[in-house]
Amino acid sequence: MSAEAGGGRLHPDTLAVGHGYDPAQAWGAAKPPIVLTSTFVYPSAQAAKDFHRAFFDGATEGEHGGDIPDGYIYSRLGHPNLDMVETRMAALDRAEDCAGFNSGMAAISTLALALLRPGDSLVYSRPIYSGADNLLNTVMAANFGVHVEGVIDACDEAAIRAAAEAAMARGPLALFMLESPANPTAAIVDIGLVRRIAEEIGARQGRRPLVSVDNTFLGPLLQNPLEQGADLTVTSLTKYCGGHSDLLAGSVSGSAELVGRLKALRMILGNHMEPFTAWLMLRSIESLAVRTERACANARVVATFLRDHPKVAKVTYLGFLPEGSPARAVYDRQCGGAGSTFSFTLHGGEAEAFRFLDQMRLLKLAVSLGGSETLICHPATTTHYNIPRERREASGITDGTMRLSVGLEHPDDLIAEITRGLDAA
Ligand SMILES: *Cc1c(COP(=O)(O)O)cnc(C)c1O
Repeated sequence: MSAEAGGGRLHPDTLAVGHGYDPAQAWGAAKPPIVLTSTFVYPSAQAAKDFHRAFFDGATEGEHGGDIPDGYIYSRLGHPNLDMVETRMAALDRAEDCAGFNSGMAAISTLALALLRPGDSLVYSRPIYSGADNLLNTVMAANFGVHVEGVIDACDEAAIRAAAEAAMARGPLALFMLESPANPTAAIVDIGLVRRIAEEIGARQGRRPLVSVDNTFLGPLLQNPLEQGADLTVTSLTKYCGGHSDLLAGSVSGSAELVGRLKALRMILGNHMEPFTAWLMLRSIESLAVRTERACANARVVATFLRDHPKVAKVTYLGFLPEGSPARAVYDRQCGGAGSTFSFTLHGGEAEAFRFLDQMRLLKLAVSLGGSETLICHPATTTHYNIPRERREASGITDGTMRLSVGLEHPDDLIAEITRGLDAA
């Protein structure tokens, strides 16, 4: 795969720094230029025809012999900075190919539209990112006639099988759309188990359901869904990979065949990542390893403090999964670390939560996660406002639940402010 071919046996931290850019491509510039252009000049009329033969028909030889040199046509079809990001993300995800999008939701929507047909059914892990929840339960279900079925405990074989049977009763099961760990409850999905069930269903149906995993919460350095059995791994690059809360982007990695289907649809939808964002992304990914390390260390300190505080009822930090539990076994097999976004629940409800949140100054009261700064929000009234209360509570989000994305500040300063908030709650 491309990590092997392009990156040899280099470690992910090393690939994150320079992979995908060769200074010889741009006057020897140590860092990639931003190629801000909408269109590209063809060297000749025949070259123009050959570029199009290569792009649309996969031709590798010129019509009159010789190789077709690398060349771009129009930025919506592809551009140099996008290629660099895709090469680097494919290497980190250990995939053949990667498609870059202008947001995580653009990536997820394109995946759904490319892989699902009217009458198909789909199983998704609950809770799933609220944008994906809306996509599936409104657009895909109502406008496109796709039957959607949720499964809450996706480490539990019986629960997954029951959801799959319910889905198949309504139409061929085309896709398991998973998110692990889930937002904001840190619920874990057993990716390998879902893949095994997908194989069995494939033998029965004559068409194997595909498995996609949203890897936003841990990112490519802490979890590799493709190695666990997923066909596609989706990342909202807006979060940890972007890492500074200053851009929106997304990616999907997998086999060249599947990613090629997404790229073909992306060309029609026009939702690719644009040059400046792609350039920022290349820069951000370089520090992903050190940011991940520091944020994870801080998160452990803050989560431990919260767990031991009398006003806190529950903390969903992955590092606290009980030894011997099924989720812990999957975590140990699947995850390289606990990440730095988790939720905690105060005793009481919205009033206590709001009193706590209104004390926050250093911790920014905002949705999103994975930035250098610590962000905190109240899911029930913000990120999950649109999800009906019953579905929200069934997946563990109550009026006292807060989501915390721990950043790179000194943990003592974070804990001092959290202490003030808890005193006020
Ligand atoms: C933020 C997020 C998304 C959506 O990404 P955008 O870049 O905001 O469109 C998808 N999945 C998860 C888990 C997220 O946290």
